[in-house]
Amino acid sequence: MQECLFCQIAAGDVEADVVHTSDNVVAFRDINPQAPVHIVIIPKEHLESARILRDKHRDLLAEMYTAAAHLAKANDIDRSGWRVVTNVGADAGQSVHHLHFHLLGGRRMEWPPG
Ligand code: 5GP
Ligand code: ZN
Repeated sequence: MQECLFCQIAAGDVEADVVHTSDNVVAFRDINPQAPVHIVIIPKEHLESARILRDKHRDLLAEMYTAAAHLAKANDIDRSGWRVVTNVGADAGQSVHHLHFHLLGGRRMEWPPG
């Protein structure tokens, strides 16, 4: 998937402010942050979105959530609170078609989301 932006970031071919990396997961600061802390957490493997998840992705998802909790602590929002969002498809406004979690925090969030 050479044309996929997040695959290119995962491969280091496109620059990003990477804040966490492991064998399976990469996290980087969003280029257009919607909160004081806005980090994008992706699998290195190209997966279109949560729409295609199967049982075999269980460990990967656990690692992505664990990375979110770790990054919340590292960015000092673990006590004030944080949110993980994953947009799936057009109605949710997914613009990059590579599975990603948004980790958001550092301000009071609205509920329900817009
Ligand atoms: P989506 O709208 O698909 O849920 O989220 C895609 C996110 O990727 C957006 O929040 C957008 O700001 C971010 N994004 C798009 N292009 C880039 C880029 O080149 N670098 C970084 N760091 N973030 C990007
Ligand atoms: Zn990709």
